[in-house]
Amino acid sequence: MIKKVLQIGDPQLDVKCERFDFNKPQVDLTVLVKDLEDTMLDAGLIGIAAPQIGVSIKIFITKIAGNKNRKSADSALRVYVNPKINYQSKESCEIYEGCGSVAEAKLFAPVVRSKVVEVEAYDVKGDRFTLKCDGILARLIIHEYDHLRNVEFVDLIEDPSRIISQEAYIRDIKPAKWHKDNCEVKLLEISYG
Ligand SMILES: [Zn+2]
Repeated sequence: MIKKVLQIGDPQLDVKCERFDFNKPQVDLTVLVKDLEDTMLDAGLIGIAAPQIGVSIKIFITKIAGNKNRKSADSALRVYVNPKINYQSKESCEIYEGCGSVAEAKLFAPVVRSKVVEVEAYDVKGDRFTLKCDGILARLIIHEYDHLRNVEFVDLIEDPSRIISQEAYIRDIKPAKWHKDNCEVKLLEISYG
């Protein structure tokens, strides 16, 4: 079911998230994942975290549709339950970010984060996996992980004078070679267990 995406300033986004309990589920995980997916697709997002729809549990999902601006995109729907970031590279890069929770303001801004990330999480069946990646997927994973610890990307903007509109982002940044290069996923390793 499509839910309302809460916007920054909503106190619900600041509620501490609890771990999902596979033995005593606080919510129906299948329903929650479906709600997240429906809401993400409806809002034209590539990732969304449970607190953004008012559920304060450590879960987020990602799904990056391939398009002419994103080569080697990861188009699988991935579910990350109780995620933990195992590794973030010292090497960083700048990518412009937007967010479903800043969608009404339609703002985009550059954020510097690690280039390579390794996350450990459980999938919807409760199987543990480790995923190491770079590019837009790495960016997305840290961005969504931050939602689970009540950090919004606007908190990380170093130079507010570089905040731009969605129109300027689509026109100037999205097609730029440096930005496409930073978004490209060249590394994607997944292991289970
Ligand atoms: Zn976001």
